[in-house]
Amino acid sequence: MTARPFREASIDLGAIAHNVRELRRQLDGTLVMAVVKSGGYGHGAIPVARTAVESGADWLGVVEISEAIQLRDAGITAPVLAWLHGPEASFDEAIAADIDIGVSYLGQLDRVAAASGTAMVQLKVDTGLGRNGAADSEWPEFFAAAAAHERAGRIRVRGLWSHLSNSGEVEDLEQVAAFERAVELAKASGLNPGILHLAATAGALRVPRSRFDLVRIGLGIYGLSPFDDASSADLGLRPALELSAAIASVKRVSAGSGVSYGHDYRTATETGLALVPLGYGDGIPRHASGRGPVSINGRRYRVAGRVAMDQFVVDIGDDDVAIGDRAVLIGDPTTGAPSAEDWAAAADTINYEIVTRLGGRIEWTYRT
Ligand SMILES: *Cc1c(COP(=O)(O)O)cnc(C)c1O
Repeated sequence: MTARPFREASIDLGAIAHNVRELRRQLDGTLVMAVVKSGGYGHGAIPVARTAVESGADWLGVVEISEAIQLRDAGITAPVLAWLHGPEASFDEAIAADIDIGVSYLGQLDRVAAASGTAMVQLKVDTGLGRNGAADSEWPEFFAAAAAHERAGRIRVRGLWSHLSNSGEVEDLEQVAAFERAVELAKASGLNPGILHLAATAGALRVPRSRFDLVRIGLGIYGLSPFDDASSADLGLRPALELSAAIASVKRVSAGSGVSYGHDYRTATETGLALVPLGYGDGIPRHASGRGPVSINGRRYRVAGRVAMDQFVVDIGDDDVAIGDRAVLIGDPTTGAPSAEDWAAAADTINYEIVTRLGGRIEWTYRT
């Protein structure tokens, strides 16, 4: 048996496959785009993308054209959409690599149309999120220009899409209505808008009217829940990430010993301290100092004192913990491991950020 990495993000591709299949079953008939932006939410874009496509995902979604090119370079031929571009972005490479380009404003549309080859374009409209996408006042001009470029053979409009704000049912349904207005206007402008999509994981699962032709699923693919009132298991999903590290040192200290910078934590009694070799340099939130949960040999502890750049300490009392034992920070809570949601609560953030921020010296491994 080969030794496990000192710090390991172990990704269960079987869980990814299960999640894709389970979501496709629940969304019966709706096309699924697996969103693998930002390094597959910290899970590894390429292995996740490959597994998702093999398990039935119809599309892949990324933010940057460079992320889409990496998928192509890895031999992944599934349809890919990339949707956020710099002011100087070159679209030639995307067109040559058969990558659909999300376009959010008129000037960008003109630049895509001027690139070499016929661009596959998916027009993005803002229906109320207030982020990327053409504002409703711009829709007539935006769609007219797209229709003109399409007639001239410079682009092909393959989709029309928007993104929900997840502010509540009323707001989501207002966005559905705004999106339907955009679809009608696009048609009246001489476009066949193609694939219509609005929902991400939350909308796909809770707002059936937002599903349209395709849903863009990020968080759910990784087995995590976007809802405060539903766990992964409640949604039939399995968290794919397990983050662990080997305990790097163990020692006994006397009562009243200060632990980590600033001595925010002092031992109440004579006790054992175990050192976990993960810190904010690896993406562990310093904000979870004194709170972040850790499981060692099946027992639950909290970070004692501050999370440092490279390490943090756990007060193990009189428990039997040896150098080399695994400290599990994040895993599937149905196995007793702390969850990404537990860390999110400890750091006042969301599970999306907890998994995506992992990096530094962690080694990624994959199991099926
Ligand atoms: C990240 C992202 C998604 C996926 O969102 P989840 O909540 O993770 O499913 C979908 N669409 C867009 C535009 C995104 O930026």
